[in-house]
Amino acid sequence: VNGRVLRCSSLLGGLLIVLAPPAPTQSRSGERICLEALEAALWRWDARSPIVPGCEVIDCCPGCPGEATLAWSVDVRGADLGAVELRLERFPAPALMALESTGGIRREGPQRFLVPIGARGAWILGMPLSSRERPPLVWPSLVLDPERGARMLAMRSDRERRAAPLEIVVEVRQHWRSMLLSTHLSIFRLVDCRPGGATPSTAADIVRLANNTAGDDAVVLLDGLRNGACANDAIELGAGDIAVGQCEETAICKGEIAVFSDDNAAVLQAAPWTSGADVVHVSMQPPVAVPLKIWLLEAAIGGLPAIDVAKAHVAMATKNYNEGHAGIAFDATYFDLSANAAAKALVGEEDDKLDDPAWVNALTSSAFFTAGMINVYYVPKAAGQAKGRNSQLERNIVMILGGFNPYTLGHEIGHAFSLEHMNDQGVSFYGNLMWEGADDQVTLTEGQCFRINFDPLSVLNVNQHRIGPVQSCPHGSADARCPEVTVDGTP
Ligand SMILES: [Zn+2]
Repeated sequence: VNGRVLRCSSLLGGLLIVLAPPAPTQSRSGERICLEALEAALWRWDARSPIVPGCEVIDCCPGCPGEATLAWSVDVRGADLGAVELRLERFPAPALMALESTGGIRREGPQRFLVPIGARGAWILGMPLSSRERPPLVWPSLVLDPERGARMLAMRSDRERRAAPLEIVVEVRQHWRSMLLSTHLSIFRLVDCRPGGATPSTAADIVRLANNTAGDDAVVLLDGLRNGACANDAIELGAGDIAVGQCEETAICKGEIAVFSDDNAAVLQAAPWTSGADVVHVSMQPPVAVPLKIWLLEAAIGGLPAIDVAKAHVAMATKNYNEGHAGIAFDATYFDLSANAAAKALVGEEDDKLDDPAWVNALTSSAFFTAGMINVYYVPKAAGQAKGRNSQLERNIVMILGGFNPYTLGHEIGHAFSLEHMNDQGVSFYGNLMWEGADDQVTLTEGQCFRINFDPLSVLNVNQHRIGPVQSCPHGSADARCPEVTVDGTP
């Protein structure tokens, strides 16, 4: 975090010390809205990632005095089709009462602001600085005016709809006194989701996706010489033919692409760009099937049949990994061991066991473990327990404990896929599946999908669920071969 973070500490009776003027951080999140969804008269679209008032790490300001509030300047750019709603969550009541807005931002009840599209330099004053475990959150939603939306759809010809996506961009700049702390962009893209939609115009080189299931926008991370510089994991989006400009491969700028999408496996392949007009063909495949063996050590969990609870967790993990572009699909089988005394004695109900080599050895050589796949043990006894654990000694062992939430299974499997926590990457990843301690762990970045699929230590490769090229990219590493774990092109 060095220098990127506004750090305060309370010393000698509340003396406020600010170390190192931070360079403003930048984050962005994207939402892709199908025009088809608008045609179904769904005029509201909620972003999946919140904006978090405050600095880049949650505990950046322990003991800061009450004067530490932030001012937000808000711009909303794009076609004037309505407004952007900012919904405030987890704000303490005094903070809600102290908020003020200017420049056309309308307060719609205690926890809602409405910012018209086209607003420039509007302000919200008195944003509390997040300093607690559960930071206040601001959720942007696009709220289209039904009449203007319908007129826009009617006026845009088929051809225009296919050519260029409409974008509504919400830019929030957080200021503390005279200092700009961070800029956050929430981008709503209105796109044509039909197969063949969003066809590019003329450009030199093309990445051509075949068999892109459902014709959704895929994310391409592109390497090669472009515009006189080595492009390193440049993000390109598209559904079929994706124009990527004029790329070349040189000794220094290796040509390579990684492709991530819903409903298709991830692809890592060479892109031998030449000085001519290249077409790089990418054959998209079905998602990689990941078998899960689920052992239920309890018959009922929270009054429900344990198998129903586990199935709901698998469904949630399947959705999050698919929508996050991991390109995998879980195939779970369930075994009821709730009446098996030997199994219950062996597995136990404490997560420290996962660090015990003798226990791991006993379990993996028992009948209650299947080698070559992820084995999940549901032992939820007491509500005060941890949520879940993945064994660092044997990544194919996951334990789900009493403190679980609907995302715990997906989170622990993320560790088995070589992922680490995102808490060191800034609060804009609060909604990420690998944020430790969040309530809503949903999203994945392309940088994470890269590691899930291509890291040789991911169980996807260790178990040979996936066969293909590998590339070791530790959590904090980034170079010509490895994207930052934060790289995110989710449209
Ligand atoms: Zn974890």
